Amino acid sequence: MAIKELIPRSHWLTSLKVKTERTRVKVGPYEIGGNELVIMAGPCAVENREQILETAVEIAKYGGHILRGGAFKPRTSPYSFQGLGGEGLELLSLAKARTSMPVITEVIDTESIAKVAEVADILQVGARNMQNFPMLKKLGRIKKPILLKRGISARVEEWLLSAEYILSEGNSQVVLCERGIRTFETATRNTLDLSVVPLVKSMTHLPVIVDPSHGTGIRSIVGTMAKAAVVAGADGLLLEVHPCPEKAFSDGDQSMDISEFAKLMEDLERLVKFIDKSL
Ligand code: PEP
Ligand code: MN
Repeated sequence: MAIKELIPRSHWLTSLKVKTERTRVKVGPYEIGGNELVIMAGPCAVENREQILETAVEIAKYGGHILRGGAFKPRTSPYSFQGLGGEGLELLSLAKARTSMPVITEVIDTESIAKVAEVADILQVGARNMQNFPMLKKLGRIKKPILLKRGISARVEEWLLSAEYILSEGNSQVVLCERGIRTFETATRNTLDLSVVPLVKSMTHLPVIVDPSHGTGIRSIVGTMAKAAVVAGADGLLLEVHPCPEKAFSDGDQSMDISEFAKLMEDLERLVKFIDKSL
């Protein structure tokens, strides 16, 4: 059922009816939403210098484009590792200098936007913050791309309206990210809703990427779902990769190790040839 709005969906700034040309979001030397499949990979959280540098170097070596790593972590439990904060941002800068890879990291509140934006080439809005409207408005006034994750229980329409908050404040550099939704199913951490990729791309000009790590929660099926996402039309992937998933401070169960990431990159290299994309 459609949400009753003053401005109907066909007139929203995110609508493909309002802007028929697809938006390409530039991050460093890469463009999300064009012919290139953009791979963002890295640990769930920045843990220490060695961990982030080693992961960054390996990801770059196997063809990853953008380094991910959380400095500020929005954890379900206040007793779980909350991230290294400012120190994590500094370590991300170091990894960026070492590898020349652009960086994506999460912003969890309005106050830290400026600080995060100093380091991040693209700012991630996590699922739990998809409807943090004051933060979305402020992100609409900065000149950096935003990755907007779908909320844990968000409908497509609510997700697009959150993007609308950012666009309506003047920032049109928004990438949408499907990361699984909460359903009755508990065999997977979330239910990865790949049907939204072609659906949302028929509704909006914004690029859509997929995070099969949070989308499944299960390391052994992340690669397969990553490939499925690409076939479904995803413009990129967000992948959790850790040099030693068993020892990860967060999300180890869904993190690929380096050899699994290398294998996936090899598979993707072959796959993109069939779908008119490059890697
Ligand atoms: C993350 O990317 O580590 C994360 C916290 O993701 P989400 O907001 O999708 O749960
Ligand atoms: Mn994570």
